[in-house]
Amino acid sequence: MKNLNQTFQYLGMIGLIPLSSCFGKTDSNSKAQMAPSVIYVFPDQMRNSAMEFWSSERYARHIRYKGDPVITPNLNRFADESVVFSSAFSNCPLSSPHRGSLLTGMYPNKNGAMLNMNSSRPVSSLRDDVVTISDLLGRNGYNCAYIGKYHLDYPTPNDPDRPGHYVEDKAPVWDAYTPPEKRHGFDFWYSYGTFDVHKKPHYWDTKGTRHEIREWSPKHEVDIAIDYLKNNAGQRDSSKPFFMMISMNPPHHPYGSLDDCMEEDYNLYKDKSLEELLIRDNVDTTLQKAASVRYYFAQVTGVDREFGRLLKALDSLELTDNTIVVFASDHGETMCSHGLNDPKNSPHTESTNIPFLIRYPGKLKPKVEESLLSTPDIMPTLLGLCGLSDAIPQEVQGHNFADYLLTGQTTQPLPESALYIRNIDGMKDKNGQVTTYFPESRGVKTDKFTLALTIDRETKKLKEILLFDDAADPYQLDNLSLDDHPAQKRELLKELALLLQKAEDPWYNERILADMIPYE
Ligand code: CA
Repeated sequence: MKNLNQTFQYLGMIGLIPLSSCFGKTDSNSKAQMAPSVIYVFPDQMRNSAMEFWSSERYARHIRYKGDPVITPNLNRFADESVVFSSAFSNCPLSSPHRGSLLTGMYPNKNGAMLNMNSSRPVSSLRDDVVTISDLLGRNGYNCAYIGKYHLDYPTPNDPDRPGHYVEDKAPVWDAYTPPEKRHGFDFWYSYGTFDVHKKPHYWDTKGTRHEIREWSPKHEVDIAIDYLKNNAGQRDSSKPFFMMISMNPPHHPYGSLDDCMEEDYNLYKDKSLEELLIRDNVDTTLQKAASVRYYFAQVTGVDREFGRLLKALDSLELTDNTIVVFASDHGETMCSHGLNDPKNSPHTESTNIPFLIRYPGKLKPKVEESLLSTPDIMPTLLGLCGLSDAIPQEVQGHNFADYLLTGQTTQPLPESALYIRNIDGMKDKNGQVTTYFPESRGVKTDKFTLALTIDRETKKLKEILLFDDAADPYQLDNLSLDDHPAQKRELLKELALLLQKAEDPWYNERILADMIPYE
């Protein structure tokens, strides 16, 4: 039956029969009139290569590196039904900064989420007055639900069970409870700040009641999501479209034992050698972390299964046709590439290149899209696909891909570069609280090159240059001399200057490295 449907959809797409006859169901005329619902699923530390379909011929020609030897049957099927971005770029590849840009369409310096949030960093917290995608969808007739890790609040003493106390017994704390006034339009809440015990997660619900769970967090979160879809307890108004974000923590460290993943998934990898699993040309399998790859891939396969279960529920509830579904992630995972211990927060492909698959049946023709997608582009693009381009706030900095995705045409040129950002702690007060942030690195990613400049925190002078020819050297093994490549140097620095200006970045405001970067 499914194949027959796909055949009709295909005939519709190539114009042999009207599209409406391919996607309409007799009982869904009213649904077809309704604005589309949106489900945005984003596990945390999942790199783009960690999806099995990249190893198949149809997809492999769109990327320059090898796909990981990982098992993801549900994502494989979903990719065939989706626009698959091969070059989605997490500009500031760290939890809170990515999430801030995702929700607001703005770079970290504009939305308040410059650093990963914890109680030692009062300088970093999503601005209360910022307008998020959920604020806008909520105002435009959507029910909005947030399930899973949030990590966008500076933790304050606001435990609903013990007013005036933190949600952990001692500060500093990573975890946080987000009170209703800070939920930015999400009217259904089942979330926490940051917590990495994958089989003992906890959540605060809409009313602030804490739930202690004893099962693998992605499984539990998809159960909550399916309940929301079924709407058995009146979680939403079924006459309205909904916007649901599901932020799964896995894949995310720890990756060390069966406490971190499902055993059935671990069994798929446990007998493979490290050399069979870590196949990138830039990897160091002698690092202590190397053995964790088995758990990393096991977590990916577990996430894939839960994602598949969600899609199946959408099908059985006949919600698939009018629901936009995105599968993405926060940032990648270096997993022993480049000898790095830090899994993220670097300009390398393993850290910045994230999954981004978007399915909108009958509206978006499945394909692989190679243009660069930056994190701030996601919010305006989703609003555009929901027919709300006019509602996108002026201060949004991302590009709206909606027209291009819907029609293949665009009045505005597509972005050809993306801004790389790394911030670190700046000044601290006498109590050790971080009161400013320091913009340590900025860079530019184009189709062919990655350039990242790092400055010294005392002198603000150039400390390090990374320049990779991603076309010739996809594993970024050879750090090229910028001066030996004058044409590329000119072009990339000019592009960087434009990106920094457009982002109203501190490097532009302070004219950092003005002897090198040709600011206007
Ligand atoms: Ca993260």
